[in-house]
Amino acid sequence: TSFGFKEVNEEEKAKLVGNVFTKVAPSYDLMNDMMSGGLHRLWKDRLVSKLHPFPGMNHLDVAGGTGDIAFRILDNINGVSHRALQNGQAEGEDDTKIYVLDINPNMLAVGKKRAADKMLDSRCLQWVEGDAEALTFEESSMDGYTIAFGIRNVTHIERALDEAYRVLKRGGRFLCMELSHVDTPLFKQIYDYYSFSVIPAMGEVVAGDRDSYQYLVESIRQFPKQEKFARMIAEAGFQKVEYENLVGGVVAIHTGLKL
Ligand code: SAM
Repeated sequence: TSFGFKEVNEEEKAKLVGNVFTKVAPSYDLMNDMMSGGLHRLWKDRLVSKLHPFPGMNHLDVAGGTGDIAFRILDNINGVSHRALQNGQAEGEDDTKIYVLDINPNMLAVGKKRAADKMLDSRCLQWVEGDAEALTFEESSMDGYTIAFGIRNVTHIERALDEAYRVLKRGGRFLCMELSHVDTPLFKQIYDYYSFSVIPAMGEVVAGDRDSYQYLVESIRQFPKQEKFARMIAEAGFQKVEYENLVGGVVAIHTGLKL
């Protein structure tokens, strides 16, 4: 694995990732808006619409950080129950549980605070400090699993995929959104310039931290291409593995089912 221009081993990578997110946690949401020009909001909406959330579901959002995906899932579900009520259907037992798992307590702390500010139902949201590679949830306990901009940071991607497969129920959905690879030559040039020059500079100015954003760009380059990552997901046991590119592959959403 390379960080900046030096080679680092796995243990060092785990530590670096920890430091990166501890440092960026306070400026994390602002940086996302700046770097993506607000687009990450639409990408996350897209991810959640592909999940088809439903009231009463058990969902696990891994690398959930500051809660962006979990909040959208809840909004989506609340929309569904609200429409059901309007149509005269009785409100069911709403025992929806959305677990937000992250390895970094600083990111979770920002998320918890945001949930409190939004006055979200705290019974539905559970914040769990943990590692994507060794989940503490029971086998076949989840209807859905999402990981957004998270799997790239995990040391052993295969282990995280195996764990996703293990905790999902049969029929459960796996969705992964990640910064991916751009193929079109001209667009690739622009994108490379943007990521190698603009992003680290922005990190320095906005977050006072060039290195963390240099790491971000490096880790995108290291991540497997769309087709290869799809094969890895299938190797973990998932069926109907597909992916959708957004903005020409800047982002890809991979999906799979546990059948
Ligand atoms: N999903 C959120 C979003 O889309 O805004 C946060 C994405 S953030 C780029 C990546 C997150 O992955 C960080 O909060 C980091 O702490 C977390 N992370 C890194 N390695 C992890 C691991 N092994 N297990 C769980 N979370 C991890």
